Amino acid sequence: MKQGTQHLGMGVRIGIGFIVVLALMVALSAIGLRYVAEANQRLKDIAQINNVKTELATEMHSALRERALSMHALPILADPFDKDAEIQRFNSQGTLYILARDRLERMPLSPEENEILAHILELTSEAQPEVQAVVDMSTFINDQTAIFDQIRSVAMPRQRAIAEQVSALLDLQRQQTATAVRNAEISYARVRNLMLGLGTAALLMGITIAGFVSRRATHQARQLASQAMYDPLTGLANRSLLHDRLEHEIEVSRRAHTSFGVALMDLDRFKEVNDTLGHNVGDELLREVGRRLKETVRAEDTVARLGGDEYVVLIHGLDPEGVPAIANKVLATLDKPFHWQNQSIDIGASLGVSLYPSQCSDASGLIRCADIAMYVAKRAGKGYALYAPDQERTSRSDLSLKSELREAIQSDQLSLYYQPQIDHRSRRVVGLEALVRWNHPQRGFLGPDNFIPLAEDAGLIGPLTHWVLRTALTQLVALHRQGHVLTMAVNLSARNLHDMELPTSILALLAESGVAPEHLILEITESAVMANPSDGLTILTELDRMGVTLAIDDFGTGYSSLAYLKRLPVDELKIDKSFVMDMEENENDAVIVRSTIDLAHNLGLKVTAEGVETQDAWNILEILGCDCSQGYFMGRPMPVEKLEAWLRESAWSKVETGALYAL
Ligand code: C2E
Ligand code: CA
Ligand code: CA
Repeated sequence: MKQGTQHLGMGVRIGIGFIVVLALMVALSAIGLRYVAEANQRLKDIAQINNVKTELATEMHSALRERALSMHALPILADPFDKDAEIQRFNSQGTLYILARDRLERMPLSPEENEILAHILELTSEAQPEVQAVVDMSTFINDQTAIFDQIRSVAMPRQRAIAEQVSALLDLQRQQTATAVRNAEISYARVRNLMLGLGTAALLMGITIAGFVSRRATHQARQLASQAMYDPLTGLANRSLLHDRLEHEIEVSRRAHTSFGVALMDLDRFKEVNDTLGHNVGDELLREVGRRLKETVRAEDTVARLGGDEYVVLIHGLDPEGVPAIANKVLATLDKPFHWQNQSIDIGASLGVSLYPSQCSDASGLIRCADIAMYVAKRAGKGYALYAPDQERTSRSDLSLKSELREAIQSDQLSLYYQPQIDHRSRRVVGLEALVRWNHPQRGFLGPDNFIPLAEDAGLIGPLTHWVLRTALTQLVALHRQGHVLTMAVNLSARNLHDMELPTSILALLAESGVAPEHLILEITESAVMANPSDGLTILTELDRMGVTLAIDDFGTGYSSLAYLKRLPVDELKIDKSFVMDMEENENDAVIVRSTIDLAHNLGLKVTAEGVETQDAWNILEILGCDCSQGYFMGRPMPVEKLEAWLRESAWSKVETGALYAL
């Protein structure tokens, strides 16, 4: 959104820039054109006026010349008619001369022109009597010598003086026209320079804007490209760049008949680190993993992060023989502890490898195959696995189960079976353990071992536990109402001990159902507590404070130290069924069962034995002082209807009237 407004602001600014440049160009053109038009007009006016003036001056000049010719012709003409005609021509030229001069005087004149004209006027009035004398002499005294003398020495010099002035006038006018043209040229040059200047300015502005825009655009394009191609957290290639590289590599390998590998890994304990140490440490760890991977592989190999804690390395030239070496190298680099504030964090990773060429033939296929192999490696608890087609069936069904499980939790495909727990002293049922089942629409009835690990993997254990608790507590209330005052044991998984909200949500469920906390038993395996000792202890302490009973499940299978066990706020130990089922034949197991019961009692804990399948087992446990037993011998896990029948009919069950649950 913010970026959107930024783009808008930028767009508006660029738009304004262009409009300014455009306006400048338009204004510039208008100014220039007007300037040129004015200069043109001025030049035209000057040229027109000067043309008229020049014409008049030329007329004067030719009239003078004609009169001079007439003057020379007159003395020679003998015929009086011819003489008269010549005199008339002479006079009419005089008239033409005067008319032209008068018109010239009325024109707009420069001071120089005025001066010359004044001079011409003066000369004309001086010349007039002398010229007239020639005419008169020609008419009346026919003394040719005297006449020519008059012409040569007096009249003609005067006439010539006038003609010179008229020539001067013509020269002046020519000069004026030339000056006007020059001025116009200067004006044009000025306009040209102005236009050129402003045009250059507009151009520079345009170039600046264009440069700016293109810089922004390039920058943004680069940013987008990098966002589109690289993981912002680690700077590694992202899924889409990896895809491109894979496609390219497939093409190259296909042509060159070479092979390559795709290694996909995910970190084993990343979620724990993220949950317990926070996202910043998690992010730093992801970056460090990226750095280590890049250092481990060759520069031309592509390291990508797909998201979360999943990484992929495209390894050039990898063949089946090369897989162990590279896989172990990668695993070794991730096995080295990470350091954070003097704390050393063990992360570890599982790695799946797929190869080209193989059944995994395209980019997505290669990633999917590597994913399946990785899944196999994870489940098998070994570092890496190379993809093999037979892995596919189980893994793929696991993958689809994961997504179906989410649905199942919401849509009542899950159900609870309840197994009775019998007190040795009273030989009566005192409690039930809730055991979850999944009635899968296609796969049929699934036991918890088939889907609890998937739920943990897919982050669904929280909602699943919530569903189990709520269902079990609701059922317990119903049983209490029927007069069966029993406890309800619910299993927690290791992942539940990462959820700091767990005590609060259990408190809410107890309040919602109206079950007293002491009627709820939570079973946690040793290893679940050991996997997350600090948070685990906090959560258990909180649950204990609430009054909920805590039991250590599958006791004997883990490696919890006695010292640690003492610090846990637990009330009960459940001996793992493997020892109980074998204790009749196996002396070792019998010893374990016996010592566990003693140990528990020494610590002030109650002991429940699981897996009691025979009367003998029941008897031995009774002799050993076991408090409680659970097993097929007394009752299998049962759905509600069966449980109700069992509670009515079994010898292990007898309604204790007096203890009806207070409603
Ligand atoms: P568990 O907590 O040890 O549960 C006891 C398991 O032993 C149950 O298997 C039960 O059916 C079986 N069992 C009981 N008595 C006998 C016997 O006499 N002989 C033999 N051979 N087996 C007996 P189930 O129901 O398959 O559960 C397996 C495990 O799944 C449970 O082990 C528990 O760890 C887990 N689980 C079950 N329900 C839940 C649940 O709601 N949440 C979580 N987180 N885990 C659950
Ligand atoms: Ca259990
Ligand atoms: Ca158990």
